[in-house]
Amino acid sequence: MLGFIKKIILTRKQNLISRRFPDVNIVLHPDLSNSSVNKMVGLAKIVNAVNSLEPKISALSDTELRRKTEELRYHILNKSKVYEPEIKDLEETLLSVAIPEEKEKIKEKLKIARNKIFEEILPEGFAIVREVAKRTVNMRHFDAQIAGGIVLHEGRISEMATGEGKTLVATLPAYLNALLGRGVHIITVNDYLARRDREWMGPIYEFLGLTIGVIQHDMSDEQRKQAYACDITYGTNNEFGFDYLRDNMKYGVEELVQRSFYYAIVDEVDSILIDEARTPLIISGPAEESTEKYYIIDKIIPRLKGRIILERDEIDAKYKGEDLSHGFDYIVDEKAHTAHLTEEGESKVCNILNIDNLHDIETMEWRHHMIQALRAHNLYKKDVDYVVKDGQVIIVDEFTGRMMPGRRWSDGLHQAVEAREGLKIERENQTLATVTFQNYFRMYEKLAGMTGTALTEANEFKSIYQLDVVTIPTNRPLIRTNYSDSVHKTEKEKFDAVVGEITELYNLGRPVLVGTITIDKSERLSELLKRRGVTHQVLNAKYHEMEAQIVAQAGRYKAVTIATNMAGRGTDILLGGNPEFMAKNLAKEKLKPDDPNYQEEYKKLLEQYRRETDAEHKKVVELGGLHVLGTERHEARRIDNQLRGRSGRQGDPGSSRFYVSLGDDLMRLFGSDRLVGIMDKLGLEEGQVIEHPWVTKSIEIAQRRVEQYNFEIRKQLLEYDNVMNKQREVIYGQRRSVLEGTFLKEDILSIIDKINDDIMAIHIGDKQSCEEWDIAGLASTLKLKFDIGLDTLKIQKLNRDELKEELSKNVIEAYEEKEKSLGTDMMRHLERMVFLQIIDIKWKDHLYAMDNLREGIGLRAYGQRDPLVEYKREAFEMFGQMISGIEEEAVETIFRLQAAKPERFRGVFSSVSQEFLHPEVTRPEGPQENIEMQETPQVSPKAMKLSPQVSGPKVGRNDPCPCGAKDPATGNPIKYKKCCGR
Ligand code: ADP
Ligand code: MG
Repeated sequence: MLGFIKKIILTRKQNLISRRFPDVNIVLHPDLSNSSVNKMVGLAKIVNAVNSLEPKISALSDTELRRKTEELRYHILNKSKVYEPEIKDLEETLLSVAIPEEKEKIKEKLKIARNKIFEEILPEGFAIVREVAKRTVNMRHFDAQIAGGIVLHEGRISEMATGEGKTLVATLPAYLNALLGRGVHIITVNDYLARRDREWMGPIYEFLGLTIGVIQHDMSDEQRKQAYACDITYGTNNEFGFDYLRDNMKYGVEELVQRSFYYAIVDEVDSILIDEARTPLIISGPAEESTEKYYIIDKIIPRLKGRIILERDEIDAKYKGEDLSHGFDYIVDEKAHTAHLTEEGESKVCNILNIDNLHDIETMEWRHHMIQALRAHNLYKKDVDYVVKDGQVIIVDEFTGRMMPGRRWSDGLHQAVEAREGLKIERENQTLATVTFQNYFRMYEKLAGMTGTALTEANEFKSIYQLDVVTIPTNRPLIRTNYSDSVHKTEKEKFDAVVGEITELYNLGRPVLVGTITIDKSERLSELLKRRGVTHQVLNAKYHEMEAQIVAQAGRYKAVTIATNMAGRGTDILLGGNPEFMAKNLAKEKLKPDDPNYQEEYKKLLEQYRRETDAEHKKVVELGGLHVLGTERHEARRIDNQLRGRSGRQGDPGSSRFYVSLGDDLMRLFGSDRLVGIMDKLGLEEGQVIEHPWVTKSIEIAQRRVEQYNFEIRKQLLEYDNVMNKQREVIYGQRRSVLEGTFLKEDILSIIDKINDDIMAIHIGDKQSCEEWDIAGLASTLKLKFDIGLDTLKIQKLNRDELKEELSKNVIEAYEEKEKSLGTDMMRHLERMVFLQIIDIKWKDHLYAMDNLREGIGLRAYGQRDPLVEYKREAFEMFGQMISGIEEEAVETIFRLQAAKPERFRGVFSSVSQEFLHPEVTRPEGPQENIEMQETPQVSPKAMKLSPQVSGPKVGRNDPCPCGAKDPATGNPIKYKKCCGR
């Protein structure tokens, strides 16, 4: 019934398109979603507009065409001025809105508003690119490609089948958006494809006077910077993400490589934003250049003479006018939970360490460690504040007395306690910077994607990235036959059947592309085929360039190619073989590509090979085209569809079939019990095969469940990362303003003001009479923090407010004094360096603490506590402490600064050897053995409970069977007792 209605709608819309725009070649088909069908009518109108400009644009000379770029640029510039107020307005509203749904609505409006700038000239811009493509790369964008380009320009996902020419599609919105001058990023899955696409499409942009760059893994910062400065930059998600992180670890504006995050077009978007998004990007490095420092400092403490000051002592001292620190090396204030070195103490420590002072930018780290060690020795008590268990210091919560595994004191205090306890300081490697792809790509003002397979994950794209999926009909009708699955009892039987089918086709000469889910299985299959004398190739997604060469020829007569899912992706499989690859290879063997005769040689070879492949093409088409054979179902339907899509490109004939055994991970883990039962009951003999829609259906249900499960994992990862993301935004934002010099003297003065308030609160409180003030404490704090003295006689004549004013006057004077002696420029420079260093040290430490918190939180997640809530709460608290810590420490350091040569500054990260990690997902959505047991810190107990075998609520015997089986005769659901519950 539904199908019938859909058909009517489809016909009606098709008629609408054909009648109104008879020249537009867009053919709707029943596989399109309703929303895509509706969308097509609107797209057809724009495609028509592009088409009708063609005669005019084609008549232009090369020079005239080239001049168009300036014309359009000018237009866009004007338009962006027109829409600027509206956009600004929306941006501001966006900042003030907190409700997620509202936010999303505004974001959508913003997207539309930003696109208005281009609205009028879109058809002309696209028509120009199409014309230039004809003249340069010898391709004319098909109408379906124009439609796909519009969708990308709008900031959505174009779902276009393999072989539809997505590389060319991207040129349309890339050109148009690049005219705004803020850079367009085109993201691909590997370096080889980035380079290929840049070279392949480059001539189009270059013709039009745009600059193009490509980022490659082994490039220097200088090269990267140049590439990012281009109008259009190709590169991989990993490189872009790491460059972002690295930029935020730098100490000079001129070192930054990236510019803005304006518009990104992500190729193979499902693989990047879904499969790869399961793990974050991490830059990691040694946690500590050396843990030695802590032990050295720890040994010094017993040699110092300290005094613990109680409130009583202070009051006494005040009356007697006694200096409490006299004769002591350090003072510990229990009330304020602080410790500091006296002048005597400092010189003693300097002697022992054999350094000049503790206030230099280079030595201030020692001072910091020293203070933490003093606190560790004097303020933290074993078995009260912490316990030592299994060689580790575990914090005890001061209010509840609960042990808090995973929680660490920050700022080096934890290590100081570890040193004091004589424990091994465990800091081998730590995260120095991290971001998930979700959060990286959400930084772009406009994000778009393209892939052959997005629809099954449309929900996730929408909810996480705000991306709609629009399926673009193929340029030519798809005529591939998808056979139903062939299900076997054991894996061995399955492989026998697989080898049987491959051998049969091989003998006929028909090309076969065999998909496996692991390299291991590829190797096994390869062994079996060798024994049968079937010549074949194996691809492992390791050597992208070489594998592209092989996969390009996978459509040749008698070719058998075994590949894991990722292998050779992005490379087109032409039936009969790819003459361009062959010609290029041979030409390169003969001549260097920059040889003046290279092009000619290449053309000659191409002609020659083309004759060969054309003949072979005919032969392969007669045999039925490329057959795709899946040796196992993946956990996601999407990945299966990708494999299938390798055959039947651009109206080619082809077919596909998946083989499944009950021993496959998917079936084993996600509900094959029923199937085994059924097969036993049916008395299936060894070697017998089932091909039944019911079985296919139940496989699909299993897949949907795994998809959902994996989505949960990604959502969890994201929820945890969102906490960190907000903090990262704040810190990177602050860091950037320091780096760029927009963080000013006023900001420092206001921090000083805040510190003054704190000091007042501690030592003066709201006590009005000077009798009650803690003047000695005040004096020593001022000395400590700002290195200034206090005229105690003078202040005794003041009231509280006057005191506050006096205080702030003194501090500011001291600050101005410092500025005068160092010179304004030097002062600003030093301030910047101090802030950057302290931000980095503290942030690094914070990241370490956050890692630990994340790991530990799972252990604490007993009882009713939601670990995510706990995590958020503690992370928030730690972050607040870190921020005030940064401000205080930076200001204290600034007051003690001596002039220093600029080159003496070393970035916190500069000496650290870094590793760039993106924990590789070798099997996209691949079965994880025993999901229940898996240790995934990202997964909360909530997600863990989603154990694969759980089949949901209990099913009554008369309820419809949960497997979804329907009576083929009536179409009604079959009762549980008559189906799986038998
Ligand atoms: P996809 O990424 O969609 O799988 P590709 O961008 O790799 O597809 O292109 C597939 C093939 O289609 C390429 O060989 C390309 O040359 C060809 N192609 C794409 N668009 C056109 C066009 N408009 N005219 C002719 N050939 C095209
Ligand atoms: Mg592609």
